Amino acid sequence: MILRRYKKLRQVLDKRQPDLTVLTEDVHKPHNLSAIIRTCDAVGVFAVHTVNFDNNTPTYSQVAQGSEKWVKLHSHPDIKTAIKLLQEKNHKVYAAHLSDTAIDYRQVDYTQPTAILLGTEKWGVTDEAADLVDGHIVIPMQGMVQSLNVSVANGVILFEAQRQRLEAGLYNQIRLNPKTYRQVIFEWAYPDLAAMCQRQGKSYPELGEQGEILNFPR
Ligand code: SAM
Repeated sequence: MILRRYKKLRQVLDKRQPDLTVLTEDVHKPHNLSAIIRTCDAVGVFAVHTVNFDNNTPTYSQVAQGSEKWVKLHSHPDIKTAIKLLQEKNHKVYAAHLSDTAIDYRQVDYTQPTAILLGTEKWGVTDEAADLVDGHIVIPMQGMVQSLNVSVANGVILFEAQRQRLEAGLYNQIRLNPKTYRQVIFEWAYPDLAAMCQRQGKSYPELGEQGEILNFPR
């Protein structure tokens, strides 16, 4: 592991926000999902949650530029399970949804644990999901078309969340718990070795200050 690379990995992981996430409801076009993940990486989102109606594993397009390696993706069997899980983790779940009750997306306090629900390309957020969430948010539209592309909507909302979190100093402190941090930095720095440890049921070795492996697994 080259030291410069290890330092870059740490710099990025230092800023990851475990309590800011995105949940996609059947966003199935690979270029949209890829663009969403790429923006999540840029904003420091640690993990993205997905529900896909046909149970297809999401695929990525070149738009992702490899960012899918740096943002964890959790697939859920259905939208109710996904929303409940996030709410149980104390997240407020806001549906980006053009409904009559939606508030301007800038009115939300994104410094609190937050999940943004994005709806499918054609039909938007389902009625079931719209009922289960904590609120609806909308990006005001002044033009002829009714809605934005889903990945654009994601970008607009997440960069407002980033603005608020920068102002609150949430990028100046490590937000991941030490156990998760150690695990993920190892997976990022040594993906092949991490996969081998997982296959063999071994725990990851410790890393030294410069990213060197201290106790190689036998
Ligand atoms: N006809 C669909 C509808 O009525 O919701 C449009 C779906 S839009 C192309 C895909 C997703 O992007 C939406 O479900 C929503 O999550 C998000 N989105 C697009 N424009 C938005 C806006 N102006 N405000 C909030 N969310 C928006």
